[in-house]
Amino acid sequence: MATPTFDHLYDYEELTTTLHGLAALRPDLMTVESIGKSHEGREILLATATNSRTGPHHEKPAIWVGANIHSVEHTGAVAALHLLHTLITSYDTDERIAYAVDTRTFYVVPRINPDGAELSLAVPPTYLRSSTRKWPRTDDAPGLVERDVDCDGRILSMRIEDPNGAWKKSEHDQRLLVARAADDYHAGPYYRLLAEGDVRDYDGATIPIAPERRSLDLNRQFPAQWRVAGEQQGAGPAPLSEPETRAVADAVIARPNICAYFCHHTFSGAILRPFDDRPDDDMPTLDLRRFNALAARGTELTGYKHVSVFHDFRYDPKDVITGGEDTWAYDHLGVYAWTTEFWSPIVKAGITDFHFIKWFDDHPVSDDLALLRYSDDELGATGFVDWYEFDHPQLGKVELGGWNWFRFWTNPPDHLLEAEVAPHTEWEIFCALATPRLVMREVITERVAERVWRIRVVVENDGWMPTNVTERAIDRKLVRGVEAELTLTPDARLVRGNTSVELGQLAGRSRVTTMLGDFGSTTDGTPDRGVAEWVVDAAAGTELCVTVSHPRAGFLRTNAVLA
Ligand SMILES: [Zn+2]
Repeated sequence: MATPTFDHLYDYEELTTTLHGLAALRPDLMTVESIGKSHEGREILLATATNSRTGPHHEKPAIWVGANIHSVEHTGAVAALHLLHTLITSYDTDERIAYAVDTRTFYVVPRINPDGAELSLAVPPTYLRSSTRKWPRTDDAPGLVERDVDCDGRILSMRIEDPNGAWKKSEHDQRLLVARAADDYHAGPYYRLLAEGDVRDYDGATIPIAPERRSLDLNRQFPAQWRVAGEQQGAGPAPLSEPETRAVADAVIARPNICAYFCHHTFSGAILRPFDDRPDDDMPTLDLRRFNALAARGTELTGYKHVSVFHDFRYDPKDVITGGEDTWAYDHLGVYAWTTEFWSPIVKAGITDFHFIKWFDDHPVSDDLALLRYSDDELGATGFVDWYEFDHPQLGKVELGGWNWFRFWTNPPDHLLEAEVAPHTEWEIFCALATPRLVMREVITERVAERVWRIRVVVENDGWMPTNVTERAIDRKLVRGVEAELTLTPDARLVRGNTSVELGQLAGRSRVTTMLGDFGSTTDGTPDRGVAEWVVDAAAGTELCVTVSHPRAGFLRTNAVLA
């Protein structure tokens, strides 16, 4: 199999073949399975990367990566493949990656929504928000429907000259349309701006925008603060009502070892964190601190700003988003969760001071010109397509052109894909290495009397996160503490106590910041260490098995030899 390249978008068949090919390359390091079928019956594939020789995947702390829940956001899938490819192919040459694959598990779903993604790559393409299921309506309402009317594989814009159009040509660049001023009564020319498409049931005069038949948004489906579709656009009939979201939730819940959760989206060049719907004051201080500390490395590697959805990424300043995957993962599972919005042409065009959302409503024309220049100079004018005439079967003479939404805004051009996604692989591996991990420090057996022995097991968390991962997990009673279990032989019996000993949660290195933390009174202690003790009655030479486990921080097994 040819190893994957990161210079194009993957359709379902190539993605499937590539995943199986990677697994075939290193079956010891990666497996592929289906976690369910999409609405149209495509497999939703999960790749699991870990060294099977150092233990099964579920006995190691893990990160989860899910991509392409939104149909057109292919870059996330490419990034997911890049992560897997790096883990598999650098294992033999990169000591840090080998350590990560030996000690951690990576669960990766490169494409949660294969149906929608496939439609966006079809010729001619259809761009949907998310699922292809017809909901909330199955009928065709009249109005403008996006379609590649000239069959060139792109859906651009149509501009139509019209004396009452709201747009006019910019004086700086004739290609660019700008809004007419409030007092602009001159003769024009003025334009209407429409998506490339047809008008269903055209009456010859009015062009309403047809309501989308398929307006499910799978990323509004997760049960955290879920609201009905009337309150939350795209929410669907019920939380997790769709096969794609149900498959993800089932797979995630079946893997309680997940400690960090990445949702791959486009675009903005941003790393978003919870809450979507609440201010930071509602988040435990330590969680906020750790979110920021982990993401600081992400920003350093990728240049992407790290912001809260509620504070800095709200589409409507008077409303919030609910049912999002990242907030569900933090709020209901108690793990660090981010939405990575890959790629920003705005940043590429050299615009530095902008608000992720508000910019789209209003920005200086100099920003548009900078973007046009970037498209012209760096991308061979593919980002903004100069207007060309087209004889529209319904509307007559129109011009097609404008921003190439799919291949300039939503995804980077092919030749920039790899550079865009590669630093995120690095950051996700960093976060995987930050997860808590149980290690055995010492097993001490001590003879107290002829047949009486004291067994002490000292374990530590050698990770950066505490074993509970978040404070949220404790508040919401989502995670048990470390448990040590002694397995007796028929000849051995406990003198007192239980075979199972609870050690609680163990701190991670994230507890320390600077020597001057706590106003200079920093004193470290050993909150990362726990001790389990048993007193048993058994013959000398007996070997007893000790298991120490934590749902997130992993499993340890050792033998205590009574000698
Ligand atoms: Zn998205």
